[in-house]
Amino acid sequence: MLALVEPHIGGVLIMGHRGSGKSTAVRSLADLLPPLVKVKGCFYGCDPEAEGELCDDCLEKRGPRRVQREAGAVPVVDLPLGATEDRVCGTLDIERALSAGVAVFEPGLLAKANRGFLYIDEVNLLEDHLVDVLLDASASGRNIVEREGISISHPARFVLVGSGNPEEGELRPQLLDRFGLFVEIHTIADLDQRVEIVERRERFDRDPFAFNREWDAEQNRLREQITQATAILGGVSIDRAVTRKIAELCVALGVDGHRGELTIARAAKALAALEGRRRVTARDIRRVAPLALRHRLRKDPLQSSESASRIEHAIARIFPDSREGEYSEHGESGARLALIK
Ligand SMILES: [Zn+2]
Repeated sequence: MLALVEPHIGGVLIMGHRGSGKSTAVRSLADLLPPLVKVKGCFYGCDPEAEGELCDDCLEKRGPRRVQREAGAVPVVDLPLGATEDRVCGTLDIERALSAGVAVFEPGLLAKANRGFLYIDEVNLLEDHLVDVLLDASASGRNIVEREGISISHPARFVLVGSGNPEEGELRPQLLDRFGLFVEIHTIADLDQRVEIVERRERFDRDPFAFNREWDAEQNRLREQITQATAILGGVSIDRAVTRKIAELCVALGVDGHRGELTIARAAKALAALEGRRRVTARDIRRVAPLALRHRLRKDPLQSSESASRIEHAIARIFPDSREGEYSEHGESGARLALIK
C-alpha cells in the first residue's frame, strides 16, 4: 500500500516461502487502484497531463489540439522468467516490415507496464541480460530500443515488484538496491489463522462471486484509504530534525549511497498519508525503516537475521520509543483512518 500511494518509493521485493500468498497479494493490487486517465488509443497509456513524458506517437498526434482521453485500469504486467529480450523491450514487426515495407515497432512488456506495475515472480532467477534491461529502464523511466535500423524510445515508468524464495538463488546487488522496500514473508504458524486460510480458500473455490461480495466493503474501504492518501501525500511534511535523524540512522548502519534515507522519508510520508496525518512522526520512521534498510546492509537477504537486529538496535537508539509528540495530530484531517499493521 505504501508503494501504491508513493510510486517513487521504488517498488517492493517480497522474499519468502513458496505458497505463502506472495503473488496473490501482488496481483490483487490492481483492484485497489482507481482507473488511470490515459491518452485515448495510446499503447503506452500516456498521461495527458504529463506533457514532458508523452510518447512519440502522442506528440505527433497531438498537434495543436488537446489529446482525447479515456479511463483505463492500472496495468499489472507479469514478466515471465523465460521471456526473450524482444518480448520485454519490444521489437520490429518483421511481418509488416516485409509486407508493407515499413518499420513498425511492436511494443513489449515494458511498454505495457508503463504507469503501472511490473511483477517478476522468482526474481532471483531472472537472467542477467533481462536484469540489465530492467535496471536501465527503471533508472531512466524510458525504454530505448535500437536495432535493425530503428531507434525507438518510449516512456516506461513502472513500479517494480519482485518476489522469490531466498533459498533458490541470490539477487544481484545492483537489482537488490533498486527495490525501495524489502519484505520478508514467513509461513504462518498460528493454528487459528491457518484454519482460517483453508476455510476462506474453500469458500472462494465453491463460489468466487459470493466470496468477492463478502469482501466488497473491505475492498472499498482500502480503495478509499489509498485514494485519500494519494490526495494528501503532497501536503505531508517531515521536520528537518527528523530527516537528520534518518540520515544519522543510515550513517550508523553504514548504508552506502543515499537511497536508504530517501526511501525511508518517502515511505514514512506515505504511511502518514495512509493514516490521514499531515506530519511524519518518529513512530512512522520506526515502522518503515526496517523495510527500507534490510536489503541495503548485506548482499544476501538469506542471512538477514543479523542485519535485522542491527537495524532494530540502531532504530531503538536514534528513535527511542517515547510517546511524546506522537499523538498530537489527532483529528487534523478529519477522519483518522484505520492503522495499517
Ligand atoms: Zn502516448
